[in-house]
Amino acid sequence: MTDIKSMTLAEISDALREMGEPAFRGKQVFTWLHRGATSFDEMSNLSKPLRAKLSERFFITAPKVARKQVSQLDGTIKYLWELADGNCIETVLMSYHHGNTVCISSQVGCRMGCKFCASTIAGRVRDLCASEMIDQVLFTQLDSGLDVSNIVLMGIGEPMDNLDTVLRFLELVNDPDGLNIGMRHISLSTCGVVPGIDRLAELGLQLTLSVSLHAPDSETRSRIMPVNNAYDAEELFDACHRYFQKTGRRISFEYAMIDGVNDSDEQADLLARKIRGMPGHVNLIPLNDVVESELKPSRRIAAFQKRLESHGVTATVRRSLGGDIDASCGQLRRKAMEGREEA
Ligand code: SAH
Repeated sequence: MTDIKSMTLAEISDALREMGEPAFRGKQVFTWLHRGATSFDEMSNLSKPLRAKLSERFFITAPKVARKQVSQLDGTIKYLWELADGNCIETVLMSYHHGNTVCISSQVGCRMGCKFCASTIAGRVRDLCASEMIDQVLFTQLDSGLDVSNIVLMGIGEPMDNLDTVLRFLELVNDPDGLNIGMRHISLSTCGVVPGIDRLAELGLQLTLSVSLHAPDSETRSRIMPVNNAYDAEELFDACHRYFQKTGRRISFEYAMIDGVNDSDEQADLLARKIRGMPGHVNLIPLNDVVESELKPSRRIAAFQKRLESHGVTATVRRSLGGDIDASCGQLRRKAMEGREEA
């Protein structure tokens, strides 16, 4: 059995042609899938024998809502989805004045080991399929009744650790016959996997690259992000400069402010030096307190921001949404895994 929603329109059309069907059938099936059909029987413009043949060869993914939390503070919705194999992933829907943004996961768990992140504590279980990424956008839209205009690949997992599939997802979600979300409305966040950044640069996609930097020097970065031992801060900054030169697109640097670790004026000065010549943007994130971590939120965010700005660096402080629903960084999935919360 083949996962049909992970197939592109061209691949579905080819498969149908091989089954003796006319070319336009592919588009019909693709459209049904990306509107949320969960069985071939729903595809009323296909003949019954064709629907039967399709269900013998292909299956259609559809996650179940294992849990849904709506923030009383700002309307942020957090979904915990149960996948066909029983694994759970998180998706968050955030409403901004410019539209609704959905934050999706790319893996079940993560193996990057960042010290401040709840998603990585139990490691990686498996990669997601392209269909499971599409489903997060599709079923969030259908369940909430809200249209999604922007996607950020900033949920659980490291997109560069599942890059072939992430690229396939981008092609699918971009398709005018599918969800039709333009690259300019998509951000991809990486903890700093240099070969992935170079591969993305080659492709020259119009998406926004976010780099989870969190420290400008390798000594600090290695303490909190094991990926720095594979690709250190120098290599990462070089890759970012190459990316900018190739694509002309500004990079967004994520920087979670951690008390006494990465929040000194000297680190702000070094950060400003490192990104000189590259019109980047620094996004300062108030650290989300993760129960399992000893790292604590910094109280120097405003001072750090000022210091960066004194060097001409654009820095914003991320508004925290969904503070009452554990809407960040793998916290809901962890609670569900440990049964720490009564239903
Ligand atoms: N693996 C990718 C995408 C997922 S993490 C990456 O590392 O970029 C999404 C963002 O949340 C990253 O910038 C990550 O560093 C940040 N993050 C993780 N745990 C956090 C925490 N406790 N507080 C604030 N930001 C956190």
